[in-house]
Amino acid sequence: MIQLCGMTPEQLTGYMVDKGQSAFRGDQLSKWVWAGADIGQMSNLPAALREQMRREAVANPVQICQERVSQLDGTRKFLFQLMDGNLVEGVLMRYKYGYTLCLSTQVGCRMGCAFCASTLEGCARNLTAGEMAGQVLLANRVLQGEGARVGNLVLMGSGEPFDNYQNVVDFLRLITHPQGLNLSVRGISLSTCGLVEKMDRFAGEGIPVTLSLSLHAPNDAIRRRIMPVARAYSMEDTLAALSRYIGRTGRRGVIEYALIREINCRREHAAELASRLRGMRCHVNLIPLNRVAERGLDAPSRKQVEEFMEELERRHISVTRRREMGADIQGACGQLRRRFLAEAGRQAGDEGTEKPE
Ligand code: SAH
Repeated sequence: MIQLCGMTPEQLTGYMVDKGQSAFRGDQLSKWVWAGADIGQMSNLPAALREQMRREAVANPVQICQERVSQLDGTRKFLFQLMDGNLVEGVLMRYKYGYTLCLSTQVGCRMGCAFCASTLEGCARNLTAGEMAGQVLLANRVLQGEGARVGNLVLMGSGEPFDNYQNVVDFLRLITHPQGLNLSVRGISLSTCGLVEKMDRFAGEGIPVTLSLSLHAPNDAIRRRIMPVARAYSMEDTLAALSRYIGRTGRRGVIEYALIREINCRREHAAELASRLRGMRCHVNLIPLNRVAERGLDAPSRKQVEEFMEELERRHISVTRRREMGADIQGACGQLRRRFLAEAGRQAGDEGTEKPE
């Protein structure tokens, strides 16, 4: 099936021309696709053309399979269903400055981080650019009622974006295209566990989004205990790649640091982290671990979190503690998909055989 929302306006025009239509049909089609319309709703396209298109294409290959709304802060958590039945998660968060969508780039993940629920069954497959764009279109559809739309994106759902490099880059080009959704690169963050070559390649793409590095440790020994990727790249090389990215793009970097009880949250860890980050133009985002039962790992006490933060501040590191959102709706990291499948008596990774409703 052709995924229309995975095509640039130029490609959509090409698609119309290939069908013997004139080029302006491409503009019409593009407007419909980015407005979130289905093929059947594209009322200024000839009925016969729509019929022909419906046999081979969908506007959006993603559907909302389940939606939960937090009573605490209005955060919405989506379970998105793909055309082959696979499920991925997305989270829509409301901030003072607008809506941010956290979206997935792969079904599962193969990076194997010890604290992450998304990686428990490995990676089933990559998402296409259209499947990533489709998540944004669905969130916009949900927000339509309040006259709002998604303004900011974080690529922090399931998956390692740089393990699906080309589709992610295609998606970012699509989503920032002036005739597409025209999102500002300033409002987009991509989070990586630190695939060094890809970080460098990405710095040259001319898409200067904010790069977040999931560091989660003050040294290689601890990092290797919790992140297999740390065996492939040293912290020194990884931080150097982040520095090069910051240098080339002019954007400030972000260090993600999940605080895990008895692993990485002592004062001396904070001191060591500060010394590693000295002189880098970056901001540290502290995340008390979201408990993942399967992993037996937990967050430290509130006091320890505060002490860790104080220690960084004392050493002049810019740091914030990430506000927990949607705590009542399994807001975090692969948990909703797992719970949904468990309730349906299935396992993550098994969903690929069912058809969307
Ligand atoms: N693969 C990418 C992006 C997806 S994960 C990456 O590694 O950055 C998004 C963020 O959530 C990462 O920083 C990841 O390490 C973090 N994360 C995963 N599981 C978590 C958990 N249980 N609690 C807190 N943060 C978690």
